[in-house]
Amino acid sequence: MKTSGDAVPSEWIVVQAVSTIGKGARAEQKGQKPLILWMTGLSGAGKSTIANRIEEKLWRCGHHTMLLDGDNLRFGLNGDLAFTDADRIENIRRTSEVARLMLEAGLIVICSLISPFRRERMLARRLVGADEFLEVFVDAPLDVCQRRDPKGLYARALAGEIPNFTGISSPYERPEAPEIHLRTDIADVDALADQVLEELRRRGATTCGA
Ligand code: ADP
Repeated sequence: MKTSGDAVPSEWIVVQAVSTIGKGARAEQKGQKPLILWMTGLSGAGKSTIANRIEEKLWRCGHHTMLLDGDNLRFGLNGDLAFTDADRIENIRRTSEVARLMLEAGLIVICSLISPFRRERMLARRLVGADEFLEVFVDAPLDVCQRRDPKGLYARALAGEIPNFTGISSPYERPEAPEIHLRTDIADVDALADQVLEELRRRGATTCGA
């Protein structure tokens, strides 16, 4: 889907029935500040691994969370989409809409998907309030991701079996000003999950891990 300009395109705007129970009330019932942690990075950078560790830590502290993993969503909601630029954009659009609904439900939503294009990450950000969206850049050099190759995808992409593979035959646009920057080539999973919790504490979103 092609769009122009920086504004959220009109087709992204969802008309919702007005509920008498607002987002604030749902969040208050859960005793937490809902937000979206948007984990972006190359395949193999460590998004899913760290997202899981963050969720475990938050869950143990009593938070209500939901993990939206790009790979898993492609089995269901996004099962009809391929990896062309247009389908990647639609993949992000649907995922960010689901994340927004979960935010309305009062959850801390962790989205883990490559989301290679700045523009679509920006549109996801603009669907919610400025303090409700944290872009988390899960960063490892391409050669490190290729060496890890946890799903064997780089080998297949380099063999020409997977078209439009991010980092190989499709671009990845690095975040310019992510709220959180995780260097997975120099720190371990636990320390990186703690780095995220620390930022959440700094923002008053949790006391978890203090
Ligand atoms: P992605 O979701 O970004 O495609 P995965 O989390 O599926 O990446 O895979 C990352 C791989 O890298 C896993 O096998 C994980 O064990 C490994 N790994 C090694 N060091 C780290 C680290 N510091 N952070 C995250 N993952 C790491």
